[in-house]
Amino acid sequence: MAGTALRGRLTWRVATVSAVREETQTARTLVLDVPDWPGHLAGQHVDVRLTAPDGYRAMRSYSIASAWPSSPAGGAKVDLTVEQVPDGEVSPYLGQVIGVGDPLEIRGPVGGWFVWRPEQPGPIQLIGGGSGMVPLMAILRAAELAGRQPDVRLLYSVRRPESVLYAGELARSKSEIAFAYTREGPAGERIGRIDAEVLARSAWSPDVGATVYVCGPTPFVETVADLLVAAGHDPAQVRTERFGPSGGGR
Ligand SMILES: Cc1cc2nc3c(=O)[nH]c(=O)nc-3n(C[C@H](O)[C@H](O)[C@H](O)COP(=O)(O)OP(=O)(O)OC[C@H]3O[C@@H](n4cnc5c(N)ncnc54)[C@H](O)[C@@H]3O)c2cc1C
Repeated sequence: MAGTALRGRLTWRVATVSAVREETQTARTLVLDVPDWPGHLAGQHVDVRLTAPDGYRAMRSYSIASAWPSSPAGGAKVDLTVEQVPDGEVSPYLGQVIGVGDPLEIRGPVGGWFVWRPEQPGPIQLIGGGSGMVPLMAILRAAELAGRQPDVRLLYSVRRPESVLYAGELARSKSEIAFAYTREGPAGERIGRIDAEVLARSAWSPDVGATVYVCGPTPFVETVADLLVAAGHDPAQVRTERFGPSGGGR
C-alpha cells in the first residue's frame, strides 16, 4: 500500500486553475482543482512543471498554502501562492500569464519533516520571511481548523505592510501575530530585521518547548535558526525550509 501511495505522489497530474486571488502587487494565489488529489499535510509542497511548445521543460517547487481539508466540506483544492521574481523563468508565468481554466502540471505532495499534524502536541512557533509565509499559512490554517489558536504564534518578516500576504485573514486571526518590517512600517513600528531582541519579545520562549517552523530565503532561515539555538531553543525542535533559487529544466 505504501508503494501505491508513493507512486501517487510521484505522478504528474494536470490540475486546473479554478480561481486566482491577487495577494499583493507582486504575488497571487492560484486555486487549483486537482483530480484524485491524495490530500496533504500543512507544510508540504508540490513540484510544478511547465513545458514550452518546443518541449523545453522547467520545474520549480511551490508550497501549499491551503490546509487539508481545504474547506470544512473537504474538496481537492490546492492553493499555491507565487511571489514573482522579476527576471525569473517560472514565477512570472504563474504570476501574470496563467488564468482561470488553464491547466497546470503538478506532482506531490512532497515533504515529510517541515509539516504539522493535528495530533502533534504542544505550542507552535511560525517564523517566515517573504514568500516563506506560504507553508506557514497552511500550518496556521490547519491549526486554527483544529481549534489550536492559543498554541500558535507567528513572526512574519516582510519589507513593508503592502507586501504582507493574506493580510485580511491574518488581521482576523485569533493567533498571536507579530510583524518585523524591514524597509517601511506603520508609524511607530520598529524597522529592521529579526534579531535576538525581536525573537525574545515576539516568539515563544525556549522553555515552552514549541516546535518552531522557519521558512524563507536561505540567508534568512540560517540567521533565524542560529538566533533560535543561541536563545536556547532545542535544535531538534527547529524545522527549516529554504526557498533558495531552484532547479533548471527537466
Ligand atoms: C521547497 C520550496 C518551496 C517553495 N515555495 C514557494 C512558494 O510557495 N512561493 C514562491 O513564490 N516561491 C516558492 N519557492 C521558490 C520557487 O521554487 C522558485 O525558486 C521561485 O518562484 C523563482 O523561480 P523562477 O523560475 O521565477 O526564477 P529563476 O529563473 O529560478 O530565477 C531565480 C533567481 O535566480 C537567478 N538566476 C536564475 N538562473 C540563474 C543563473 N543561471 N545564474 C545566476 N542567477 C540565476 C535569477 O536572476 C533570479 O533572480 C519555493 C522553493 C522551494 C525550494
